[in-house]
Amino acid sequence: MRTPLMAGNWKMNKTAGQAVHLVQDLAELIKGVKDVEVVVCPPFTALKSISTVIELDRLAIKLGAQDMYWEEKGAFTGEISPIMLKDLRVDYVIVGHSERRQYFGETDETVNKKVRSALDHELIPIVCVGETLEEREREETNIVVEKQIAGGLAGLDPFEVEKLVIAYEPIWAIGTGATATPEVANDVIRHIRAIIGSQFTPPVAKRIRILYGGSVTPENIDDLMDEPDIDGVLVGGASLDAEKFARIVRFGEHQA
Ligand code: PEP
Repeated sequence: MRTPLMAGNWKMNKTAGQAVHLVQDLAELIKGVKDVEVVVCPPFTALKSISTVIELDRLAIKLGAQDMYWEEKGAFTGEISPIMLKDLRVDYVIVGHSERRQYFGETDETVNKKVRSALDHELIPIVCVGETLEEREREETNIVVEKQIAGGLAGLDPFEVEKLVIAYEPIWAIGTGATATPEVANDVIRHIRAIIGSQFTPPVAKRIRILYGGSVTPENIDDLMDEPDIDGVLVGGASLDAEKFARIVRFGEHQA
C-alpha cells in the first residue's frame, strides 16, 4: 500500500559533472527495478544538470533538494526558493536534516515554515526528526520526536500530511557506522505513526511513508526493510557510491 522510497542525500559532495556520472551509473544499475521510488538529492549546484539528464535519458529517478527557504523571492542572500526548485523539476525537498539543525540554526519553527511552503508549491517535504545520543540515553527519544513532529507539522491538514514523508534519523547513527537495530528503528517509527494518528487521523498514519536514516549500507538494508513500519531509507554516505546505493534500492523492490 505504501510505495517504498529509497532516497540518497549526497550532502556537500560532487561537482555537477561528477553528479551526472553518479546518477547515470546508478540508473544503469537499477534498470528494471519496479515499484520503488528512487530519489537523489544532490547539492543545489548539480540540480540543473541532473534534471536535464533525467529528462533526456528518461531515467526512473526523481530529484530532491537538500533544503530550501520558505519565501518565493526577495532579499534573502544565498537562499533558494521553492519556485526555483520547481523550475528545475525538483519533486522532493529534505527539511530539518539534523546537520541543518546543528550547524545552521534550523528549528521546529523554521522547519514548519519550510514544510508549509514546500506543500504550497507542490514539493514533497522529507521531514527529518531524531534524537541525540544523550537524549536516547536519558530515554527521551519518544518525547523528542513528538516535539519535532508537533512543531514541524503544526497547522497542516490531514490530507497534506499524508503527502509528505518523515525520515527518522537518530543523530548518533548518522555517518557514524552505528546503525539503529532494525527493532529499535521500527519501534520509534511505529511511535511516530501513532503520533501522526493522534495528531491527525488514523488513516493518515496508515498512509504516510516513514523512512529510516543513519548508516544504512547494503549489508544492513535487508533487515531494516523487513520491518513492517519502515517504508524506505534516507541514505547519506552509501548513496555516493552507485553500486552500493543500487544494492540498497533493490531491497526496496523486495518489500514492495
Ligand atoms: C543522512 O545524513 O541523512 C544519513 C543518513 O547519513 P549516513 O547514511 O551517512 O549515516
